Amino acid sequence: MKKILIVTGGSRGIGAAIARQAAAVGWVVAVNYQRDAAAAARVVAEIEAAGGRALAVQADVACDEDIERLFATVERELGPVTGLVNNAGMTGGLGKFGDTNPAIVEQVFRTNVLGLMQASRRALQAFRAHGQGGVIVNISSTAATAGSPNEYVAYAASKAAVDTFTMGLGKEVAPEGIRVCGVAPGTTQTDIHTTSGDPGRPARVAARIPMLRVGEPDEIAEAAVWLLSPAARYVTATTIRVSGGA
Ligand code: NAP
Repeated sequence: MKKILIVTGGSRGIGAAIARQAAAVGWVVAVNYQRDAAAAARVVAEIEAAGGRALAVQADVACDEDIERLFATVERELGPVTGLVNNAGMTGGLGKFGDTNPAIVEQVFRTNVLGLMQASRRALQAFRAHGQGGVIVNISSTAATAGSPNEYVAYAASKAAVDTFTMGLGKEVAPEGIRVCGVAPGTTQTDIHTTSGDPGRPARVAARIPMLRVGEPDEIAEAAVWLLSPAARYVTATTIRVSGGA
């Protein structure tokens, strides 16, 4: 059976690294994005130039209808889905929780938690339809255990929800030959810090990381692509930290 993978938020940062590395080991990859079609097209072009196959699909993971359209498009254009990386995520910006607009908190949970759950639900439907099992990898954060006071407590709480979901769903569907795993990156050099309004964050926090540097997207992707692979066949319901010791 062809290995067909959806990477949400696969157009930039960690998701793009996962898409490229997964394609290099034989996955046909759907590169999902929300706004930046040109960035998604670049990732698809890179994958194709390296001899792989990929398709860019716009969808907002915070919207259930978009998730259905994403899966339906991939099934029609590429074939039955066998893997999902729930990578798309947002911090909602930096600041104290008391100063954070409730609408932002809702958007963070809608994207990071409810969207991830809905995509997982739809992936289970796809896996059960073809009966060949499947694997879901959820991109969490070390914020889930740090709590991220004064920065993004709601984001940290959303990632803690992701970890518990990974554990619970992983146990629930294990008897069906479906694995659900997580990767919790520490601070990684991507656009997310600029989008959050703090481009200098990686340089500032590096000194607090035991390895004295932030991560690169490819270093996070290595763990995600391993979890997707048969080498990780006895691994489920757990989240691996990739954080330079943080
Ligand atoms: P990024 O550089 O900001 O890229 C975000 C990606 O997600 C883009 O492809 C973006 O597409 C897409 N996206 C955002 N919202 C979306 C939505 N609602 N629906 C569909 N796609 C959406 O992010 P990143 O740093 O690589 O982060 C990826 C994941 O790792 C996130 O879950 C994040 O929480 C987690 N993480 C990151 C770090 C870090 O330090 N970078 C640390 C721990 C965990 P468009 O460009 O089209 O908007």
